[in-house]
Amino acid sequence: MTVLDSRREIPGDRDGRDASIGVSDALITADGVSMAPVTDLGAGRGPFWLDEALSRGGADVVAWRRHIHMNPELSRHEFGTTELICSVLRSLGLEPSVLPGGTGVICDVGSGSRCVALRADIDALPLTEATGLPYSSTVDGAAHACGHDAHTAILLGAAMALASAPELPGRVRLIFQPAEEVMPGGALDVITAGGLEGVDRIFGLHCDPRVPVGKVGSRIGPLTSAADLIELRLTSPGGHTSRPHLTADLVHALGVVITSLPSLLSRRVDPRSGTVLVWGAVHAGQAANAVPQDGVLRGTLRTADHEVWKALEPLVASSVQSLLAPTGVGFDLQYRRGVPPLVGDQDSTSLLRAGVEAALGEDALTGTEQSSGGEDFAWYLEHVQGSFARLGVWSGEGEMRDLHRPTFELDERALAVGIRVMVHTALASLA
Ligand SMILES: [Zn+2]
Ligand SMILES: [Zn+2]
Repeated sequence: MTVLDSRREIPGDRDGRDASIGVSDALITADGVSMAPVTDLGAGRGPFWLDEALSRGGADVVAWRRHIHMNPELSRHEFGTTELICSVLRSLGLEPSVLPGGTGVICDVGSGSRCVALRADIDALPLTEATGLPYSSTVDGAAHACGHDAHTAILLGAAMALASAPELPGRVRLIFQPAEEVMPGGALDVITAGGLEGVDRIFGLHCDPRVPVGKVGSRIGPLTSAADLIELRLTSPGGHTSRPHLTADLVHALGVVITSLPSLLSRRVDPRSGTVLVWGAVHAGQAANAVPQDGVLRGTLRTADHEVWKALEPLVASSVQSLLAPTGVGFDLQYRRGVPPLVGDQDSTSLLRAGVEAALGEDALTGTEQSSGGEDFAWYLEHVQGSFARLGVWSGEGEMRDLHRPTFELDERALAVGIRVMVHTALASLA
């Protein structure tokens, strides 16, 4: 039985700013765990159908999030989560379609040729939760430590509100994306399945434990970085270290690449782009007096600049070729492109900010820094314009529990905040 089935009727509280959107009765899980109520920080700000949806169904949103939290599923295995999403969307009278891979859902609300997409990622991480929460993960080695359970519940909450709107100025496409945490990411699956067809703009958000709940960060320009993977395998006939001139000195050649490639890039790439190549692994040889026959070098190449990112692969290839040519060693370069930097354009970011302001007031807006991590939402922005928000989930008290840690926790008031921001950003975009 899901939390959904065990839900009871909740009396709505339609007025008052700090309206409670959850009553403990409504949040009894299948295991009989009772939960504390959750507050809607934007209550009464409208539109009326959004206020009503949250006061009527806010507890459902919390219950969905906790159910997903208790039942985390790893990338491209989000079958139960996909089922829950579909059943909620169908109960709202919508027609969800599952992606060809069997996980992830696309669903339109409203009609018309203009279309704005809202995206949530739905996968969990392969680690064991250590929060001690009453609704902790029940799956060993899987946990929603990146807050994707909250993203999913927020988008379901937005669906609930949008489906109750008397009329929408256009179409809103809800994208529940699988496999954000792996490479290649699920955004590519969505795009291949035609998920962006007809979409004018796309928006998404991510929990940020460094931002207090009720605040939303945004940024024009790059928000996350690109991270590519380099693996270089070298080969040589090998031989005695007393006669390097009769073979190809593989260890020396490795040394040349290790030191020269990063410094060469620092002179060929604009330093303002934040481009950095760092080697993480090097392996070759055994004996002190033998030139080895093979060796391998692995590292990551990150950049904050989109144009630079596009130019890096050929630049690395030609530089490696030039550096190794005089050494006589053979090589095989594997360059794996990760994700592009996520770059929000000015117009879309303005619409997002207008959405935040309408949802919660001017005070809710805050800036945010570019992170050196990657986010596969960036792939969508290769095709359509859009912007990405950092949703404050820190309670304002105690430790800020970071993402990707077994102890990550979020303040659930962020759920209603996220729903309001998503809905208002869609409305601003379609206006
Ligand atoms: Zn993550
Ligand atoms: Zn994430």
